[in-house]
Amino acid sequence: MISFTMGLVVFGLCATYFILTRKRKKEKIKGVIFSLMLATAVGGVIQFNFNRDIKKWNNGICTNCNGTYEFTTATKSYKSYRSYYYTCEDCGKTIETMHLMEKN
Ligand SMILES: [Zn+2]
Repeated sequence: MISFTMGLVVFGLCATYFILTRKRKKEKIKGVIFSLMLATAVGGVIQFNFNRDIKKWNNGICTNCNGTYEFTTATKSYKSYRSYYYTCEDCGKTIETMHLMEKN
């Protein structure tokens, strides 16, 4: 949910900028609609990735053997996206997430 909120804040700011830089009323309305669509789309993608991570992460429990995932490494891939790797202590299963996961 943190990522989702962050996405909304970022695109809220973009939307504001978009609106302020448009002078005519018609273009303002277009700008609002466009920004809302963009925010929804990006927010949706962020939320989708986050949900996928949560499913993979399974609260730190390995889906193969019920072992515990331990953080192994993080890499910075293209466009400043980060990948976090967790490996199961028992069977060596490795998962990759886009978020730093925490056990609840
Ligand atoms: Zn395992």
